[in-house]
Parts: sequence; structure tokens; C-alpha cells
Amino acid sequence: MHSENRDYIKVVKFGGSSLADAAQFKKTAGIILADKSRRYVIPSAPGKRRQGDSKVTDMLYECYDRATGGSDFEDLFEEIANRYRAIIEGLELDYSLEDEFALIKKAFITKSGRDFAASRGEYLNGLVLAKYLGFDFIDAAEVIFFGENGIFDDEYTNKVLGNRLKRHKNAVIPGFYGSMPNDTIKTFSRGGSDITGSIVARAVQADIYENWTDVPGFLMADPRIVDNPKVIKHITYNELRELSYMGATVLHMDAIFPVRFAGIPINIRNTNDPEAAGTMIVSATGEIPENRITGISGRKGFCVITIEKDMMNAELGFGRRVLEVLEKQNISFEHLPSGIDTMSVVISESEFNGKRDAVINNICAAVEPETIFIEGSLALIAVVGRGMKNAKGTAAKVFRAIGDADISIRTIDQGSSELSIIIGVNEADFENAMRALYNEFMG
Ligand code: ASP
Repeated sequence: MHSENRDYIKVVKFGGSSLADAAQFKKTAGIILADKSRRYVIPSAPGKRRQGDSKVTDMLYECYDRATGGSDFEDLFEEIANRYRAIIEGLELDYSLEDEFALIKKAFITKSGRDFAASRGEYLNGLVLAKYLGFDFIDAAEVIFFGENGIFDDEYTNKVLGNRLKRHKNAVIPGFYGSMPNDTIKTFSRGGSDITGSIVARAVQADIYENWTDVPGFLMADPRIVDNPKVIKHITYNELRELSYMGATVLHMDAIFPVRFAGIPINIRNTNDPEAAGTMIVSATGEIPENRITGISGRKGFCVITIEKDMMNAELGFGRRVLEVLEKQNISFEHLPSGIDTMSVVISESEFNGKRDAVINNICAAVEPETIFIEGSLALIAVVGRGMKNAKGTAAKVFRAIGDADISIRTIDQGSSELSIIIGVNEADFENAMRALYNEFMG
């Protein structure tokens, strides 16, 4: 529980583009120092400075692979070091990372691990940022822990990290990595600094976790498809999960869990437009979005297996036997739109590839269908919004938009939670269907 007279605490994470060079570092520091409640800072490694540029993390992986593969890695290592040297010089800091560079280079030669190599991007950026801000530096290896099995140890981390941070008014904790029981370094998956930020927010019982990036927030639709989609002001964790699953990405999905259970909201903000409110991600909100929906997202690359058999609905265990076949082939299913004597299973084409014959043969053996056929090139589109619960006519709007666009709907799915309506269309119709839906609800 937050005590009544406790100061407000913000945990702030800055992505790679917010720390790509000295100019971005200055913006970031300006944001942090403008608000004294921004006490704990999680930096990513330097990202791209412009289109076509490289992220330091990618350079580190490449450099380590060259070093361990026996090819020449010195030039690339210098290029990486130069990224930091340029930042230090641009910030006019009286500071040197040369000893660190020498240690890291040695570790590359002695094959200290790919994760260790990648983690140095955040580690070095954290050192520079702490120096520039005048904050304490805490190596994530001392406070973020993985178990023997390589799985993040949330409870132990929370205890150690919480106790440690009580002793620091302000601190920089590099994102993306932690340590294994044998003291080697392990990273989260790519984009994992978001997770570190969330873990720190939970450990200090922050009032808010600000995630600073280079976009205005979550958009209502993919801007590559829909012109100038609006920014989502409030979104619940459940809605976010639905939209992200279908392709919208701004935040690492694993970043949700630590803060969600602690009831801490995440605020996505734009370093290049710090006055904008961004997107607030919350457990629940009474705020109902105008126009009912929160966002639209979708993905191509699905196929449908349709199985037909007379009296299927009376055959006990039919569905289970079909799904068992998929499970044994290690294929997960997306949806199960079903009729009276037909059952369809929507799966991702990439999971299905190479297993097609085995799946068909095994389903035939398991349930002896009259017909079974597969149709590919399906795109799924999710229209998501807490506002559609109990509101009438949402499905009608979806169908009208798609019908008016002269597109045929191949599958329909709406769970009884009424959080989303998912439709399947031909891949060739995907973009037009997205635009038609956006215009119907937002136009
Ligand atoms: N630097 C890491 C990556 O590029 C982690 C992160 O930025 O969150 O994936």
C-alpha cells in the first residue's frame, strides 16, 4: 500500500531512439530533471539516429559473433565504442569509458556469452546517463535475477530490488538484462528494457510507470494502412493484449505483468513531444472511448481447416480429438468458428507449414470426417473496445463497413466478454477492410 504522506514516485524508461545520441540524451535528461518524482530511470542501448542507422544492440551481437567465429571484429568494436565517445563528447562530460571498453573486448575474446555482449549496450548507456544526471548507477546484474531454468525470478528480484532502491533517492538501472545464479549475464528477449522498467516500478511501488519512446502513443490503427489514425488516450490491459496480439506493437507484452498486478498504470510518452499526454494503460477505467471502439488491428498469414461430418454436434469428444491432433503437432489454434455439422479451426500458416499432411491424416484417423479442406491466405482483423459491451449495433457497423467496401467476410468471432469482434477476410482485402472499419467508427 502507498502510505498517505509518501512522495509520488515515477519510474521512467527511455527507449533506444531517446538515447541514440547526445542531442537525444539532452532531451531525455530535460524530461527527467523537470520532475523530481522521476526518480528511477531505465535506459535502453543507443538506437537508430536516423533511418538506415544501426542499433548498438545489433552491432554488439554482430561483433560478438565475429569475435567468437574467429573473424576480425576490431573495426566494429571501435564503431560501437565511438557511439559512446560521441555521446560523452556531445554532453561535454568529464568521463571516460575506455577501461570498460577494454574489459568488454577481453570478455568477447574469452567468449563470455552472447547475452553478456548484448547487455553491454544498456550497461554503458546507463553509466553515461547516471553520470550526466548525477544519479546513482545500479548494475542490473545485482538486482534482477533469473532462476536456474533461465526464467525470471520475480519474487526474489522484487525483494532484493525493493530493499536496494530504498537506499537510493535517484538511480539509473540499465534495462534488458539481469544475472543467473552462476553470476553470468542473461537478457530478456528483444525490447526487454520495457520489462525492466515494469519490474522496477513494481519494486518501488511507483505511482506510475512512464515509458518514453518515439511515437505519440498507441494508435487506433496501423499508420502504414490508415492515414493519421488517432492516438488512444486510455486503454485497458485486456484491450492492449487483444490489439498487440493482432500486431500492434509499442510495448513488450511481458512488461505488462509486473505492473498490472501491482495496479500501476503505464503511460506511453513521446520524448520528441513531451507535452503530449500519450496513452495511459490501466487495469480498468470508467472512461468510455468516443465512437465505442478503442482500436483496430490485424494480421495476415492464417489458414482455416474446415471439417464436416453429419451429426457432428452429437458426437461426444469430437472437438477434443481434433484439437489433440494439433496439440501433438505443436500447433496452437487461434479461433474455432463452428457450425452445426462443421467445425473450422483457424491457425497460423507459418505453424502449419511442413505439417500439413500429418495434420490432415491424423484428423481423418481421429474423427473420420466426410470432408476436410484447407483454405489459406486469410487475414484476421480485431475490432477492440470495452465500449462495445452492452452497446447495440457494433456488429452491424462492422458488417456494414465491410459489406459497403464490397468485401466478403470469411470468418466471424465474438467472445461473450464483448471486448472484440474478430473477422477473417481474404489477405487481398486486408488493407481495404482495415480502412473501411476505421472510417466507419472514426470517420
Ligand atoms: N536494446 C535491446 C534491444 O534492442 C533492449 C531494448 O531496447 O529494450 O532489443
